[in-house]
Amino acid sequence: MSEYAVTVDGELLDSNLFEEKSWDQLKKDYKIGDLKMICCGANAVPKTSIKYNRFFAHQSIECTTAPETIWHKTSKKIIVEEFSKLGFRAIEEQIGNGWIADVYVELDGRKIAIELQQSPQTLKVYFERQKKYSEFQIEAYWLLFPPRYLTIIKAIKHYRLKNEFNNKCPNAGFFPSLNNLPVFYIDDIEYKIKGVGLFNHTIEDFVISIVNNKLSYLSTWYIEGKKTLLK
Ligand SMILES: [Zn+2]
Repeated sequence: MSEYAVTVDGELLDSNLFEEKSWDQLKKDYKIGDLKMICCGANAVPKTSIKYNRFFAHQSIECTTAPETIWHKTSKKIIVEEFSKLGFRAIEEQIGNGWIADVYVELDGRKIAIELQQSPQTLKVYFERQKKYSEFQIEAYWLLFPPRYLTIIKAIKHYRLKNEFNNKCPNAGFFPSLNNLPVFYIDDIEYKIKGVGLFNHTIEDFVISIVNNKLSYLSTWYIEGKKTLLK
């Protein structure tokens, strides 16, 4: 089951955005085959739990899609949808010269790649891929599957300790965060974008901050004008 489904036309449906009336209407009006699960493309059925939560269920088959694949597909759909709401056409799996971006979008002269990293990748490879994007004047943002994030912030911590602080932790501490590598995770329950320094925003707010150039770095990443730990 999932809070999301897509229509046969590829429109994303978020069960949280329905009201009681419109949800009941959907349950009445949909026909089998109209709605598809994002995970595996199986027919989706809108349902309401005994606690009144709205969700989409597989019509019949048991879904065997791996959690990280569900995470990848769902995150990608939501991001594309949020750009679309702002009037920008984001492309999935855009292939460039030596790179493939999970989501790629051009905004009034800016080129943006969003990578949804579900498989393990060393910090060195993050740096290499980031460099590749910057060679093509593409801004790249990394949104990780939660377990990948835990690993990479450990690597960033060691990297900074060694390269900036001579292996002695400064008294004031520091964030395991890098100015030249915007890296966050998307949790696979609420689908919010989170990171160190209590970074915690909806995908909608994150996409708006990219479009408006409000994603900034000062000790760690934050969105200008939003609540932050930083002064
Ligand atoms: Zn499925």
